[in-house]
Parts: sequence; C-alpha cells; structure tokens
Amino acid sequence: MSGGDSPDFEIRPNQAPVDEAERAALLADPGFGRIFTDHMVTVRYAEGKGWYDAQVGARRPIEIDPAAAVLHYAQEIFEGLKAYRMEDGGIAMFRPDANAARFNQSAKRMAMPGLPQETFLQSLHELIKIDQRWIPEAEEGSLYLRPFAYASEVFLGVRPALEYLYLVIASPVGSYFSGGVKPVSVWASPDFTRAAPGGTGAAKCGGNYASGLSAQADAMEHGCDQVVYLDAVERKYVDELGGMNVFFVLDDGSLVTPPLGGTILPGITRDSIIKLAEVAGRKVEERMISIDEWREGSESGAIREAFACGTAAVITPIGMVKSPEFEFTVADGGHGDVTMGLRKQLVDIQRGRADDPFGWVHRVA
Ligand SMILES: *Cc1c(COP(=O)(O)O)cnc(C)c1O
Repeated sequence: MSGGDSPDFEIRPNQAPVDEAERAALLADPGFGRIFTDHMVTVRYAEGKGWYDAQVGARRPIEIDPAAAVLHYAQEIFEGLKAYRMEDGGIAMFRPDANAARFNQSAKRMAMPGLPQETFLQSLHELIKIDQRWIPEAEEGSLYLRPFAYASEVFLGVRPALEYLYLVIASPVGSYFSGGVKPVSVWASPDFTRAAPGGTGAAKCGGNYASGLSAQADAMEHGCDQVVYLDAVERKYVDELGGMNVFFVLDDGSLVTPPLGGTILPGITRDSIIKLAEVAGRKVEERMISIDEWREGSESGAIREAFACGTAAVITPIGMVKSPEFEFTVADGGHGDVTMGLRKQLVDIQRGRADDPFGWVHRVA
C-alpha cells in the first residue's frame, strides 16, 4: 500500500491551554508518560484517497466506533523519540529520520499504509513548535514524542483495514531514574517468549507489548524490574528486554549484542551505540549469546558488564538476572565503566555538548 502525497497541516491552536503556573508545577516533577502537552497531531487515511485532513489541534479524547478494527484485531503501530533543549538554548530531535523509516517498516509488517517521511517529520516539527513551552528545562528532561497509527475502519471482517488515523502526542518527561541511573534486575521468563521467527518482533506494535504483560507481571512478582526474553525456538539465546535492546561488555572491552533477524526490535539507540563504539575502535559483534554464556561469563569474569538501551532510559546497567533455576549478579552488579562511558557519550551528543560526527542531531529551532 502506498501512502500517497504529503498533506499540508492546518494549525488550530488550543483556545484553553494549561496556564503558566500550572504548567510550571507539572514540569517540576513530570515523571514518565504521566502528563501531556496542550496539542496533538491527527492525520486521516482512506484507501484510494491517501493521507488527508492533517491537523494540529487541542489535545482531546478521540471518538472511536466500537467496531473500529483496532479494538478487535490490534492493527496498530507506534514510535517513540525525544525533543531536547540544547546547551545553546535551541531545540533538537535525535535521528527522527530513523524513526520515520522504522515506522514505515512496522506499517508494512502490519499491512498498514506507509506515511510519507516528510509528513512524519513535519508532524513532529509542528507539535514541538506549538508546544515548546512544555520542554522541561531540567538537566535530564525532554519532550517524549509518541507518533502512532491505528485501523479506524468500522468493520469486523478480517483483512487489512481501509481507514486509519495517525496521531502524535507529546509528554514532558524527567530523568527516567529519579536519583540517578539505577541498575535493573531482569527476569528470564521460563513460560513466555516475545517473538517467534516470522512473527512481529521487529515491528513496533502495541500487540507485542500486550503479549508481554503477563511476563512483566511475573517479573515484578519475582522482585525484578523487567523481563529478559529468550528466543522462541530453543529458549536459550537472549533476544532483548520487553522494550529495550541488550549489550554485553566482554573482558577484552569488546561489545556483543544479539543480531537483528526478525525477532528483536531494531533499536535506534542500539544502532547508535554500535556506530559510536566502532568509531572509537571498540570491537562490536552482533551474534547470538545464550543465557548460559551470560551466567558462566558473569561468574568467570569473561562478561564484565551488561546493559539495556532504548530511547526512554538511554542506557541502563543490568545488575541481576533471575529465573526459577538460577540467580546471578553481573560483575559488581552496578555501573560498569564502559556502560556509563557510552551513556555519557550518547547523551552529550543528544544535548549538543559533544561533536555529532554522524549528523544525528536534527535541529528544530
Ligand atoms: C522501541 C523499542 C526498543 C528501543 O528502540 P529505540 O529506537 O532505541 O528507542 C527496543 N525494544 C523494543 C521492543 C522496543 O519497542
């Protein structure tokens, strides 16, 4: 399915925005994904007509027909990226073109129409521009942008829908970890897998998250923060966490990360870390790594650090791994030097405090 031409945006400012004092109070402690800005983007799609009726308007509830296909068959995809206040006072996004490309790959897998890259990027620009007062000034704060699209056609038959709605909402967020970066503990689920070969593991779709919630509930019941998923075929190799990719630091300083191949989400943070490590002369291997290798390597010292990465928390050390059969600590269970060094390098580029050799920083203002 082709997305067609890029429509022009109609801008209708919110007539009753949140007042200055209330906004300041909300921004003082935004948390993650709890508060939202004054506006949102909507663009409609109909088969044969393409994308049309592009608007930036007041954020409000959307009306949805009870027979809308998404409510029954979950034809839905999303993206997640951040807008930052830069060191020099400007505003920038990090690699939004990569999110645009991935959005279209997810759309293809879910039999949805692609969105022209120009429309995707413009939708983000317009929303940031109108809601820029919502970007937190705090050191680690940012405006989290959530573009998404779903099947809005009113039809209970099983086939790709003929009508869709694309939206972007924005949420000011603080530091993902209040009180500094905190290592996470992960639960290696013996019962559940995230993605099988041929499935939707590489698509950023809500359905992947829905099917992971039981595993996440188990993780929390066992005192862990997150799930680490093993491959669906042999139940042996590490895939990723529920919403973050995984890296290992070996004793020679090289990095290992599971390969892309359909069952893991191609993270933009993952890709950025690989590129940064490689230009710094660090060896990076994309290969399968088993949970046994991880456990034995942690005990022998062959694996010195492990970390998870994604837009929301950037880079997070993994301190402990638990399953019904074993429990082990990764090295000192904390803030490895390589992990924290890569984190700083990436954040400094994102904030305009360091050179941007790959041209990843996309200025908005
Ligand atoms: C979004 C996501 C990631 C991280 O991707 P980034 O582009 O780095 O934010 C990793 N795994 C899953 C399952 C995801 O949905």
